[in-house]
Amino acid sequence: MFGSFPDHGPSSHPKNPGSNNIPYLRFMKIKVGFGFDVHQMKAGHPFVVGGVTLDHHAGAFGHSDADVLAHAICDAILGAANLEDIGYHFPNTDDRWKGANSLDLLRHCIKLIKDKGFELGNIDGMLCLEAPKIKPYIPQMKANIAEAAGISVEDVSIKATTNEQMGFIGREEGVVAYAVCLLEKTNY
Ligand SMILES: [Zn+2]
Repeated sequence: MFGSFPDHGPSSHPKNPGSNNIPYLRFMKIKVGFGFDVHQMKAGHPFVVGGVTLDHHAGAFGHSDADVLAHAICDAILGAANLEDIGYHFPNTDDRWKGANSLDLLRHCIKLIKDKGFELGNIDGMLCLEAPKIKPYIPQMKANIAEAAGISVEDVSIKATTNEQMGFIGREEGVVAYAVCLLEKTNY
């Protein structure tokens, strides 16, 4: 009930009535965001994922460096703050983003959410691709994403799975990434 924690400010908080047994949540708004991205794979093309260039015979193709994981994370962050999507902020018709390092796009998304009063809490990313094996690259991907997003490596999760050789992912015609994130706004 309200008033159970008199050491944590006023005895009621009209904007956050459901958190009355967790005092700090009375003054914090949290928002979840979801992102998805897909890119075509082309033979001989560089394969950049999470800011790491993978050793592979083919890579993702796109207007920027086609970093499918960074793009899914950008969309999750933008979505949580209700700031449209990555295509809105970085249109593929704009030459400024041609060949862009997608970690710079991520940095820009962080600036946008901070301008709206949010802080990034954590990221959970999921890659879906047939090859190469991602595990050896994950520590560096986490470090790159954490640095660009301005959060601890401990708050960046990156996981990977294959598509069990089915569909366009199984045929290595494309690569997919999903991401969720949490944004926090204190003193809400
Ligand atoms: Zn993309």
